[in-house]
Amino acid sequence: MQKESLAPYAADESQSRGRRYDEPGSRYRGEYQRDRDRIIHSTAFRRLVYKTQVFVNHEGDLYRTRMTHSLEVAQIARTVAVALQLNEPLTEAICLAHDLGHTPFGHAGQDALNARMRDFGGFEHNLQSLRVVDELEAKYADFPGLNLMFETREGILKHCSAKNARKLGDIGQRFLNREQPGLEGQIANIADAIAYNNHDVDDGFRAGLLSFDQLREQPLFGPNYDEVHQRYPKLEDRRLIYEIIRRMIDAVVTDLIENTRRNIESAQPRSIEDVRKAGKVIVLLSDDIYAQHVSLKRFLSKHLYSHEKKLEMTHRAQAVIRELFDIYAADTSRMPAEFSSRAEAQDDSGRARVVADYIAGMTDRYAFAEHERITAGATI
Ligand code: MG
Repeated sequence: MQKESLAPYAADESQSRGRRYDEPGSRYRGEYQRDRDRIIHSTAFRRLVYKTQVFVNHEGDLYRTRMTHSLEVAQIARTVAVALQLNEPLTEAICLAHDLGHTPFGHAGQDALNARMRDFGGFEHNLQSLRVVDELEAKYADFPGLNLMFETREGILKHCSAKNARKLGDIGQRFLNREQPGLEGQIANIADAIAYNNHDVDDGFRAGLLSFDQLREQPLFGPNYDEVHQRYPKLEDRRLIYEIIRRMIDAVVTDLIENTRRNIESAQPRSIEDVRKAGKVIVLLSDDIYAQHVSLKRFLSKHLYSHEKKLEMTHRAQAVIRELFDIYAADTSRMPAEFSSRAEAQDDSGRARVVADYIAGMTDRYAFAEHERITAGATI
């Protein structure tokens, strides 16, 4: 890690709060590079390729999956991190890990699992991402989880209730103190939203659920459409939409970098501690672009995420999650040994958590197949 290229308020491994379990350093890699590598080598990361972003994995080969979404988030975030002289490997690590705790079937799956877990502390994918890297990955001889650096874990945990924060100890403390994460974590957070806003336009258009006429009313999309269409009037639709999307990403990312630079100038942080205690988020879009970004987000929520064709799949996916949960909770021995043995000698709440961990780790296709196998194809 070239330390001299980092801004004083960037995360710096020599000032880090470190790992939960002490480990010797690596000969050729910085500590945040190691974190990134551990995430890429994790089982949970590989599973993201078969997990829903918006469209259930088998609906088409070209739609985003959780994995390609995570990669796009990381690409956007790395650009911003480098432009602001922040820690690029840390930013990348946070982005690649941010969705590791997602259930199969995206938010629909999470909502169904959360409903079943209501009496047992609930289920929230962001908290589960931290649980995956802290506890559930079983790969190393000396410790549970991936034993990541504090700043990586801090960036992964985007939100947290006060109740959960108290249970989490050091990593939850900032929610009780009302502090912010480092700038690398702040970048990952907004890069997530920039990535999905843009790739969901692409996927929604590909699926035929969004049209140019609808999209042109959006302030981020409309002017770019007019510009590209005027300059390349014969461009076919696929290239037209891609050209518009790349311009939208560029406009939003440029605004993010420039506005954040201004915010850094006015907040004058001199260290990551100053960033944490700044009392507000520093990595932000300007008011104007933020309003456009939110408008697109609302548009997608209304016209894509709640589209009746999407909802059909949502209902089916939620029924699968509910039924799997009920079957395993009633008889934990139906889960693989590593989970059923963990569930032994636990109270109701502990057993439910093991079931939630097992289901959350499933890919879309595994959840469907497992449901089919267990219910012998009984219709739902
Ligand atoms: Mg995400």
